[in-house]
Amino acid sequence: MDVRSLLVLGAQYGDEGKGKIVDLLVERARVGTVVRFNGGANAGHTIVLEDGRFALHQVPSGILHPEVMNLIGAGVALDPLRLVEELRDLRRRGVECTNLRVSDRAHLVMPWHHVLDGHLGGRLGTTARGIGPCYEDRAARCGLRVGDLVDARGRVDLKHFAARVREVGTAKNLMLTRQYGLDPLDLDEILTACTEAAQVFAPQVADISELLEERNRAGHRVLYEGAQGALLDVDWGTYPYVTSSSCSLGGCAVGVGLNPAPEMRMGVLKAYATRVGEGPFPGELGDPERVKQHDARPAGSPLPQMTSAQREAALAGDQEAMGRWLRLAGAEFGTTTGRPRRTGWLDMVAVRHAVQVSGLNALALTKLDVLDGIPTLKMAVAYEIHGERTTRMPSRVRDLGVARPVYEELPGWSCLGGATRFEDLPPQAQVFVQRVAELAGAPVRVLSVGGRRSQSLMLPEDLCGAPTSPP
Ligand code: GDP
Repeated sequence: MDVRSLLVLGAQYGDEGKGKIVDLLVERARVGTVVRFNGGANAGHTIVLEDGRFALHQVPSGILHPEVMNLIGAGVALDPLRLVEELRDLRRRGVECTNLRVSDRAHLVMPWHHVLDGHLGGRLGTTARGIGPCYEDRAARCGLRVGDLVDARGRVDLKHFAARVREVGTAKNLMLTRQYGLDPLDLDEILTACTEAAQVFAPQVADISELLEERNRAGHRVLYEGAQGALLDVDWGTYPYVTSSSCSLGGCAVGVGLNPAPEMRMGVLKAYATRVGEGPFPGELGDPERVKQHDARPAGSPLPQMTSAQREAALAGDQEAMGRWLRLAGAEFGTTTGRPRRTGWLDMVAVRHAVQVSGLNALALTKLDVLDGIPTLKMAVAYEIHGERTTRMPSRVRDLGVARPVYEELPGWSCLGGATRFEDLPPQAQVFVQRVAELAGAPVRVLSVGGRRSQSLMLPEDLCGAPTSPP
C-alpha cells in the first residue's frame, strides 16, 4: 500500500476493530508515525499477536512496533493516572514505550471529571471515564492541560500545577457539594497522585505539531488514528447519544495541529452493526433491556456457546436469537465491563454517512468470519421514516428512533476457511464485500477474517468497489 499518509477511523458506532487494522497497516504500509487524535481512556483498541492480546486505551495502536513513533495528540483527553497504569502494563509485557510522545496541549482528565461523569453520564450510557466533563471544561476554558503539569523542558512543574489544581479544584468541590450533594475531593491527594504519575511520562511530553512536521519532512509515513466511530461524533453522530469529541476527518485536523490532508482516508466497519450505551439503533436485533438482563456476563469469563435450539430460533426469524448469535460469534462484550453490545445487521445508511462526512476513500471490512453459517444475510440500504424512504441519516434522534430499515437480502456462506486471496473466498462472501463497497461508494482495501494480524487480506483498489449510486 503505497500512500504517504493515512487516516483510520471508525465508520460505525465504535468497536469496529480499528486497533487491529492500524497495527496491520503500520506494517503493510510502512508507517513511521502513528498519531491518535481524539477520545481518551474510554476507547479500547485490541491487538492480538501470537504472544497474546494487548488492550490499548490511550496509547496509539502502533506502539507494538518499536521503530514507529507514537504520538498522543492535543485532541485526546489524557488521563495521567490511567496512562501510567497502561504504560506499566505494557512495560511488564516487554513493550518499553520509549517510542511514545504526549502533546503538551492535551487536556487532562482529572478525578473530578470521573466523579461528575459517574454522577451525570448514566443518561447517555457513557463509560464514566471522565471524558465528557473533561471536554466540557476545555470548551469552557477552565481545563488543565498536560502543559500545566509538565514544563517545556520535560520537568514536572509542581508550583504552577499546584496553583491550578487549587484554583480549579476548589470550584469543582463547590460544584460537587452544593450542586450535587456529593463529597468534596481531597486536592492534596490529587496533586500528589498527578505529579507522581507525571514523573513517569514527563520526558515524553512534546509539541506534537512540531514533531509531526519534522517527521513529515523527513519522509516518514503518518497514520492518523481515530477513536470511537463516525456515528458517535459530537456533531455528525446521533446527538445527544454521542461522545464529546469529533471522531471524523475534522477532528483529526483539530487534534494533531497540522493540516493532515491524509491521502488515504479509511473507514473501518464490521460486517454487521453493534452499539454500546443508549441511543437509537435502527434495525437492532432484540430488545436492549432484555439483552442487558439476559446476556450480561462477568468481564473476562468464557463465552457461552449458542445452543442448537437458539440457532434454530434465530434461523426461524427470532430477532433476539439472531442478535445473540452475532453477539456470541463476534464476542461483542465490553472488554473491561463485560457489558453485552447491542447488535444489528449491517447498516449501509450509517456507513454512507460516515463516508460522506470524512470523505472516506477506502474501507476496511472486519469480522466477516462472524457471519459464517448464517444462510441469509441482511444489509440496510435505506430507512423508512414516517412512511418516507430515505438513504440519508436524519439529524434528529426522534426520527432515527422510528426509522425502519429497508433490507436487501444476500446469500450467506458456510465457512470462509483460511482464504488469503479475495478470489479464494466463497463467491457469496465476494458478493457481500462488493455490495458493501458499491453502497458505501468507496473500495474495500482491507478485509479482516479473524482477530490475528495474519487473518487479513489486502485488496487492490480495482478489485472491490466501483462506486455506484445508492438505491
Ligand atoms: P476497536 O476499538 O475499534 O479497536 O475495536 P475493539 O478492540 O473493541 O474490537 C475488536 C475486537 O475484535 C478485538 O478483540 C479484535 O481482536 C477482534 N477482531 C478484529 N478483527 C476481527 C475479525 O476480522 N474477526 C474476528 N472474529 N475478530 C476480530
